[in-house]
Amino acid sequence: MKEIDIKGLFLGPKSENGDLFKKILTDAINEHLYWRKDFHPEDEPIVSLYEKNQENFRLTEDRIIQVVDQICAKLKVTSMPWHSPRYLGHMNADILMPAMLGYIAAMLYNPNNVAYEASTATSPMELEVGKDFAALMGYDTGKAWGHICTDGSVANLEAIWYARNLTSIPFAVKELRPKLVEGKSDWQLANLTVDEILDLSAKVKDICDEVRDRSVRGTGIVQKQLGKWIVPQTKHYSWVKAGEIIGIGLDNVISVQVDDQYRMDVDVLEKTIMDLAEKEIPILGVVAVVGTTEEGAVDHVDRIVALRKKMEQRGVSFYLHIDAAYGGYARSIFLDEKGDFLPYSDLKRQLHEKGVINQDDIEWPPEEVYSAFKAIEESDSVTIDPHKMGYIPYAAGGITIRDRRMVDAISFFAAYVFEKGTESPALLGSYILEGSKAGATAAGVWAAHQVLPLNITGYGRLIGASIEGAKRFYSHIQMNRVLDIDGTKVRMETLTRPDFNMVDFAFNVEGNKDLDKMNELNLNLYNLSSYVSGPVFKKDFITSHTEFTYDDYGDAPVNMVKRLGIERAEWDRVHSLRLMRACVLTPYFMVDKVVEHYWETYLDSMKRKLAEVLSK
Ligand SMILES: *Cc1c(COP(=O)(O)O)cnc(C)c1O
Repeated sequence: MKEIDIKGLFLGPKSENGDLFKKILTDAINEHLYWRKDFHPEDEPIVSLYEKNQENFRLTEDRIIQVVDQICAKLKVTSMPWHSPRYLGHMNADILMPAMLGYIAAMLYNPNNVAYEASTATSPMELEVGKDFAALMGYDTGKAWGHICTDGSVANLEAIWYARNLTSIPFAVKELRPKLVEGKSDWQLANLTVDEILDLSAKVKDICDEVRDRSVRGTGIVQKQLGKWIVPQTKHYSWVKAGEIIGIGLDNVISVQVDDQYRMDVDVLEKTIMDLAEKEIPILGVVAVVGTTEEGAVDHVDRIVALRKKMEQRGVSFYLHIDAAYGGYARSIFLDEKGDFLPYSDLKRQLHEKGVINQDDIEWPPEEVYSAFKAIEESDSVTIDPHKMGYIPYAAGGITIRDRRMVDAISFFAAYVFEKGTESPALLGSYILEGSKAGATAAGVWAAHQVLPLNITGYGRLIGASIEGAKRFYSHIQMNRVLDIDGTKVRMETLTRPDFNMVDFAFNVEGNKDLDKMNELNLNLYNLSSYVSGPVFKKDFITSHTEFTYDDYGDAPVNMVKRLGIERAEWDRVHSLRLMRACVLTPYFMVDKVVEHYWETYLDSMKRKLAEVLSK
């Protein structure tokens, strides 16, 4: 097939593709209406024309119309205009037309993917999507597994659930079949690799119920067997929830310092692990983030994988989860049409040839980011959110695991689901965290994956457009670092050179040395450029914002504070930094004319707002 035109994939900022959308939607609705009728045509209609003309029926219709009108009114006045390139806030933009249409078409049939019998059309779609996730992450699709979840928070919870249950299995085996782990100390049992645990489980299949009852699943947690869950400071707050829910408690969730680039500092990670090992405190698992929620930073997955190998030489092993809720889909950029990971030496040429990056002067990715994406294939599980960089409607998160045997560690039914010769568990709800769930979501994600393959020719080009847009937005800020606002000079600084498609930045009045004042300026600016007040139609531009505190980030923000002209002592006093945060998901910033137009509008609007804030 010829290349896909990205502009044909969305409804469009001005509903440019509205006619096609309406046509396909009308067709899908008509199909559905006939489908209802065609089920036993011999049955008589239950509602007659005569009844429809009675007063109560009319009133009922009227009520429905009024309620829907009300909803539309509420939506139109306050909803976020994600679709417009003027929206550079949260992780959302226009969503893919095939996904919306697939979702709506399926929703009419209300399938429930909890069980195959309730979702004969959409359950197989979910399993295919799960395979797509596994292939995208470089897992062996013959061994791996994946599924859709409500969101990334649930996927993360499921990941820690896997890790927790797996880690306790060797201890249960020790009680039930001590011979199988003879000569191993508790410390050694707590440090088996995931593969060793799965192989051990395979040897006790015949007593799998007893193993389950003697493991954490039956006994509740035994903390000294589980140990610490290690995350970077940039962690999403779902990890805090997960630590509480899974029962290890927050004392056992350790946040590792990040560097200037907001990537987990692997040297600090190594030291943390060494210190714990010294005291024989096990590591339940380590999370690396690919696309952090506030900065879009990409942790050094490759170095963390290498660290795990090195530690395993010393008898220390841990579960490795990649939280790629945000950045996961971007791995498409690096896969050729056969699904092979492109070599770095050839990447730049391919990115330009395939139209992923159009501007010659855009240098992306740096080698560290490339290597991080590559190394994801060596993890144990990955969270990936279709409703973020998949441009899919909510609620669609996802998880994939390297070895499907892991499912037995959390499944509700007797073990070995997948050995029974079926690809598709009859009751998906008993092998995952959730129960009933929308089959429509699976249809939406599946439709998008059919139109846009998860490689350089499909999602790669779409996400490339977003990264290119972010890079251009970033360069514009770099080129306009000092603004003149009626004689007052205002400096604008970016937090990092973005690893991905998020640009964080802040303003300070030249000469201002007071961090509190600077934070107030940025907060006021945000309040004028966000959804917090007033009808959305009056907004020129919409960004989001964030606050970095010492408690969350240690001294990582010092560098940024200094570049804005404020001394370190001020940071030590205030320990908080407010920033604007722009997730550049819009796919339209690869066209010069478009970027220029929106940048000019943006800059004008910021200048007006700065003038307004400064005059107060
Ligand atoms: C968004 C995000 C999550 C949580 O995903 P939800 O779908 O919002 O629940 C987890 N981790 C990271 C890195 C994220 O960006």
